[in-house]
Amino acid sequence: MSRPVYVHDLDGLATHARAIRAALPRQVELLYAVKANPDPDVLRTLAPIVDGFETASRGELRRMAEVLPGRAPAAYAGPGKTDEDLAAALTAGVDRIHVESPAELRRLGALAVAAGTPARVLLRVNLPVEAPGASLIMGGRPSPFGMDPTDALECVRHPPPGVEVRGVHAHLASGLDAALAGAVAAAVVRWSVAEVGAGEVDVGGGMAVDYADPAARFDWVGYGRALADVLDAYPGLRLRVEPGRSVTAYCGAYLTEVIDVKRSHGEWFVVVAGGTHHLRTPAAKGHPQPFTVYRRRYGGGPGPCTDGGPVTVVGQLCTPKDVLSRSSTVGPIGVGDVLLFAMAGAYAWNISHRDFLLHDPPEFRTGDPDRMAAGWAARPSRS
Ligand SMILES: *Cc1c(COP(=O)(O)O)cnc(C)c1O
Repeated sequence: MSRPVYVHDLDGLATHARAIRAALPRQVELLYAVKANPDPDVLRTLAPIVDGFETASRGELRRMAEVLPGRAPAAYAGPGKTDEDLAAALTAGVDRIHVESPAELRRLGALAVAAGTPARVLLRVNLPVEAPGASLIMGGRPSPFGMDPTDALECVRHPPPGVEVRGVHAHLASGLDAALAGAVAAAVVRWSVAEVGAGEVDVGGGMAVDYADPAARFDWVGYGRALADVLDAYPGLRLRVEPGRSVTAYCGAYLTEVIDVKRSHGEWFVVVAGGTHHLRTPAAKGHPQPFTVYRRRYGGGPGPCTDGGPVTVVGQLCTPKDVLSRSSTVGPIGVGDVLLFAMAGAYAWNISHRDFLLHDPPEFRTGDPDRMAAGWAARPSRS
């Protein structure tokens, strides 16, 4: 039995990221939200394509310094920044610090005064935004993220010593399609310019990824057109976006082997090596992770096999929550077959509870996941 493997398709990632960059107006700065996948190969692949990186912890600052020395992150964000975090962001030369509360702004100002250089900040505002066409209001509800509009206005009118408030940051929701994301961006900019006189606006990430349809993609061209309209209305505005999931989700795959197949009270269960301690995405998001079956071509033996109907794919953890996928009609699956779980390139290994049950970690490779899975299935089974 081989260990499960994460495969990053770096060529595919570069192609996808270049298409995103090309779809957005040149003036829009494309930042990658490192928290989606901080893998060093991923960061190195994106470095020549994106305009910068959004970080949200000292660990991410360290990762950036190790992998891309000399390239200061474009943004530092996150709720609950300690003085040590803020000082590290100042020392790292982060371009914009996104401030989440008036008290945080005062602490940052004091540190910047002590350091002798002003801190350039965007205020993260929890803005109520009505999306035209959709009976939907985003933001404006109690949240640990960002500050209320009235607090933001107060921070702009009376900034503490040591800070230069340059504009507004708003990351209000995730899973937005292009029309909604464009409408939200326009509404955020409108408020920021009118109320705060902002010259800079970061409209956040949250572009939709549809796990039920692996071929679907966020409409970056349509979103780019909406942002172009915003720039036409506000010439000279410095406009940033900071997607994570929609950039890297498609470049990662999780490959693993079937250990056991059984029927339980009328339903087929497929038990694979590894599980949600390696790939927590489906458990965290509550979706079935899409997968492809590579039948073992040689040496699999006459082990049990499903009848080709719906299955529940589970891992090796002693908990009923260790479900990777459910009720997918995928054809027969037998012991030794290789399963390729697609869309495992964002919020996947890095959000997984890797020490639960102390199973071995997966391996990590780069290349074409489909070719790797086919090659694996063609080898004699070692179990
Ligand atoms: C997580 C996060 C992002 C990235 O969100 P995605 O849904 O991965 O695009 C961007 N900005 C902020 C402030 C975030 O917290």
